[in-house]
Amino acid sequence: MEIFNAQPGTLDDGYDCPLCLNRGDSMILTDDGEIRCAPCPCMAKRKSIRYIQRSGLSELLTRYTLDSWKCREPWQKNLLETALRYARNPEGWMYLAGRPGTGKTHICTAVCGLLMDKGLETRYMLWRDVSVKAKALVNDYDRYEELLQPLIESPVLYIDDFFKAGKGKEPTEADVSFAFQLLNNRYNDSRKLTLISSELPLETVLDIDESVGSRIYQRTEGRYMNLTHYANWRLGDMT
Ligand SMILES: [Zn+2]
Repeated sequence: MEIFNAQPGTLDDGYDCPLCLNRGDSMILTDDGEIRCAPCPCMAKRKSIRYIQRSGLSELLTRYTLDSWKCREPWQKNLLETALRYARNPEGWMYLAGRPGTGKTHICTAVCGLLMDKGLETRYMLWRDVSVKAKALVNDYDRYEELLQPLIESPVLYIDDFFKAGKGKEPTEADVSFAFQLLNNRYNDSRKLTLISSELPLETVLDIDESVGSRIYQRTEGRYMNLTHYANWRLGDMT
């Protein structure tokens, strides 16, 4: 058992695991005294890294951490505390509303990084890209399901820029219908963690569609932060 566990593996995806030496599994002694080969917790993290690399969030993950979050104002401190609480004891959903530059993406990305460190499989979606794709596939059942199912099933999902439509445009009925399918399915499994950042306060989402808004509202108790009245500072540095 020790000999197996001391042998370095060949996994080579940028993550260096001290537990399994990049083999992906380890021999363990079970409670019944049996020796068994068990997958290493780093495998979930490796999976998330692959999804995140495909989605383009990987560069942000190294830049946006809670350590690099600057607390100049009380609301920023408050936001950090909420994020830390959520990352330590992840339960339910988190919704951050604010204008570009308030740091919603920074905070949500940092929390995703911490959840991935806990071994939770995490997916990222930029709302506008995925909703455009979904609307184009609405008559192609198989490919629509192929797009939607992994987003429904992922233990952690970060939806960036939720309900973002074109400039001056409102989300369409098709956007609302896609949002409902995605969020209602995640809502029905209370273990699912969902992080949402948006320019729209939840009150506006409720006005657009009550069934979508109320589901978010119920899952985010205490973790809905409306930052829309805070200034858009250091634009370009944070979004
Ligand atoms: Zn490992």
